[in-house]
Amino acid sequence: MKTKLSSTLARLGVSETAALATGDQWHSGHGNTLAVYSPIDGSQLVSFAAASGDDVARAVDFAVRAFRGWRLVPAPVRGEFVRRIGQKLRECKEDLALLVTLECGKILEESRGEVQEMIDVCDFAVGLSRQLYGLSIASERPAHRLAEQWHPLGPVGLITAFNFPVAVWAWNAMIALVCGDSLVWKPSPTTPLCAMACHRIATAVAAGMTEVPPGVLNLVIGGADVGQQIAAATGLPLVSATGSIPMGRAVAQTVAKRLGRSLLELGGNNGAIVGPSADMDLALRGIVFSAAGTCGQRCTTLRRLIVHNSVADELLGRLRKTYEQLRVGDPFEEGTLVGPLVDQRAADAMAAALDAAGEQGGRVHGGDRVTMGVPAGGAYVRPAIVEIGPEAPIVQTETFAPILYFLRYDTFDEAIAIHNGVPQGLASAIFTNDVREAELFCSQQGSDCGIANVNIGTSGAEIGGAFGGEKETGGGRESGSDAWKNYMRRATNTINYSSQLPLAQGIKFPL
Ligand code: NAD
Repeated sequence: MKTKLSSTLARLGVSETAALATGDQWHSGHGNTLAVYSPIDGSQLVSFAAASGDDVARAVDFAVRAFRGWRLVPAPVRGEFVRRIGQKLRECKEDLALLVTLECGKILEESRGEVQEMIDVCDFAVGLSRQLYGLSIASERPAHRLAEQWHPLGPVGLITAFNFPVAVWAWNAMIALVCGDSLVWKPSPTTPLCAMACHRIATAVAAGMTEVPPGVLNLVIGGADVGQQIAAATGLPLVSATGSIPMGRAVAQTVAKRLGRSLLELGGNNGAIVGPSADMDLALRGIVFSAAGTCGQRCTTLRRLIVHNSVADELLGRLRKTYEQLRVGDPFEEGTLVGPLVDQRAADAMAAALDAAGEQGGRVHGGDRVTMGVPAGGAYVRPAIVEIGPEAPIVQTETFAPILYFLRYDTFDEAIAIHNGVPQGLASAIFTNDVREAELFCSQQGSDCGIANVNIGTSGAEIGGAFGGEKETGGGRESGSDAWKNYMRRATNTINYSSQLPLAQGIKFPL
């Protein structure tokens, strides 16, 4: 692992010791020692000093100063910066994908997809840089113009999770950059090398453009304490945080205390309904990719399958057979479909959830530890299917592992009630050939999630849409559509070009 890592880092120009970057200078942190392990075999990849409180303050200070210049650079020029980053990412795609697999354990094909997502977001953001439109609004007063403009918001604090160590940065950073914001990024302490590589690429591009002030992009590495410092930093008007629901709760409270804005992308407990008319071959493929892919470690992983009783036995039989044949193993090996869990703690959490499911009346298929034919030291598991009732408490929680709860229903209303009966609201899907069911599912009476799909699984969103979820998932929207508005501030302008001063609402104020 170490040799593969060293050569990949060397090609990407990443130094293992200078882990922090503020004002375009790389330097060591002054905080606690942080060790990074590969999920593939549990071996230690690197260890270095994380950021101290002073390091975070310095990064915020650089971001604040850089913002003053960056906001004045025309948006299409900011787009040119992002276009060049996208070009560099294309050139480094394979090395970045290797690093994602090494550090977070997803299979190489999915890592390539994650890097492609960064490239796609760059393309999207470049176009956006010429489309940050405001509105003209009809004024009720004669010779008045009422309009809305969007201005850069300020430096953005970015906290990201381990399971999408590069894509979530791009969703936020590329859009924030064209919007005229600077950034302080704190990646997951599990995947700092991916962050260092992305940051290297972006700052090398910045160095070649005089329009980009030093400190537009800053990187601090550390755990929850560093995340809290970012949340508390008054220099950061927006904190965008991706991770678990408890993390979102903690960050939101700290940000709210100083009346800052937070953009939250938190955990999901994603469901899919399989109706009686569903195309079973298609549903099977969609379900397995969503439920077992990425070893169940996507925020959009399918965790609850809600199946009409008339097709439940057939589907369960076919799913179990497919699950038994899924190749679990080294994520670098061709043919592997399911790589390791991120660490032993994740494996323990999965085992505990399966025990709880058993105690709550569930029937567990699979879910055992895989030790044969896999690298020693990694936490490899067979994805599990659990037949269980929707009222079981364990079904309400997100266990970040490949567990699919198999639930049955008789009426469509019952299916929707089961589907919406959890605290989270990220991704959802229905497999059906009945147009009424499909439309109802997507309507206001249907799925209460931020993402509602028909005849595809819950995972694997495209970057063009706004991504995010409702309820405890946090309500944030990132990436495509008009998610850019989160990174800007709106100014409403009323301009009087007459010599009169009529007041709104017809108010007379005789002076
Ligand atoms: P995590 O919550 O443990 O950590 C996420 C980030 O938050 C890390 O950078 C971590 O250091 C930081 N952090 C943790 N506690 C904090 C605190 N109290 N204050 C400030 N920062 C804190 O999550 P994880 O294990 O890295 O990732 C898995 C979770 O992320 C899952 O719940 C998954 O559903 C969620 N996720 C959501 C999305 C989404 O877009 N909705 C995307 C990816 C992952």
